[in-house]
Amino acid sequence: MSKQCSKCKKNNAIYFRQYSGELLCNKCFIKSVEYKAKKTLSKFSMIKHGDRVAVAVSGGKDSLTLLNILKNILSDVNPELIAITVDEGIEGYRDESLHIVKNFCSNIGVESRVLSFRELFGLSMDKAMEVRPSDKISSCSICGTFRRRAIDLLAESCGANVIATGHNLDDYIQTFFINLFAGDVERIGWTYPEPVEYGSSGLKKIKPLMEIYEKELVLYAIHLNIPFQSEECPYKDESIRSAFRSHLNSLENIHPGIKYNAYNSILKIAKKVKSTPNAINQERKQCLVCNRDSSNNICSVCHTLSLFVKRN
Ligand SMILES: [Zn+2]
Ligand SMILES: [Zn+2]
Repeated sequence: MSKQCSKCKKNNAIYFRQYSGELLCNKCFIKSVEYKAKKTLSKFSMIKHGDRVAVAVSGGKDSLTLLNILKNILSDVNPELIAITVDEGIEGYRDESLHIVKNFCSNIGVESRVLSFRELFGLSMDKAMEVRPSDKISSCSICGTFRRRAIDLLAESCGANVIATGHNLDDYIQTFFINLFAGDVERIGWTYPEPVEYGSSGLKKIKPLMEIYEKELVLYAIHLNIPFQSEECPYKDESIRSAFRSHLNSLENIHPGIKYNAYNSILKIAKKVKSTPNAINQERKQCLVCNRDSSNNICSVCHTLSLFVKRN
């Protein structure tokens, strides 16, 4: 026997939202996920009038879902959404997702642009892994450093000042614990969701899905037939993140809503750390090589690149 949706009291429920006790039909579930993203956007003033938003789209479920949600909820205020994708140069992995992104964007009528590590740094990720000077430099740190720069440059080249990423609530909590266990307290302050402008073009980063459970984003993507890449990155090295992920999921199973409680506490901690003098507002310098914002004389991108140059 099927149960009735507790919102519209009309349709059959397809989902039981354990932490709230609601039963939701397809339509009410989709609406509630989009409403949550909308609320997060306004709560932290993520997008202001006149902003141009670039959505960082990898081809995974979170980023394509983000693009779909923003397209639906911003259609009146911000019709100029653009999808930006970085091609790291990972054979057999990135090609599939580039294809998915291109098709999805053309289906929903959003312009998309791609920039590759090879074009930008003269070095694909495959090549970087082949010639890396030491395996102490992890694949994810090389890739992350290069990808952040590529995304900034792509956004700037499109005239965008806001970069939206698909991080969800689970990612946010995991990141907190990773920083906490690494003793990286200052970094916790950086994660406070109110956007801070950086760089000479005043870029800001936002995470509109950060108050939505990963599980619900998967369900959203499945119900709307959003295609996404299932292939995992061959260089993926996330042992600590995966450990936190599975611990937090088991806790949530026993105590529904515990992730929300954790999220709310983390927000308060992040806000406090952020407002501590010298925590974030340390003097910004300019990289002596590329002239971009940096906390040291040489930025992390130029530093990483120099390791490869020395070697060749
Ligand atoms: Zn309903
Ligand atoms: Zn630099």
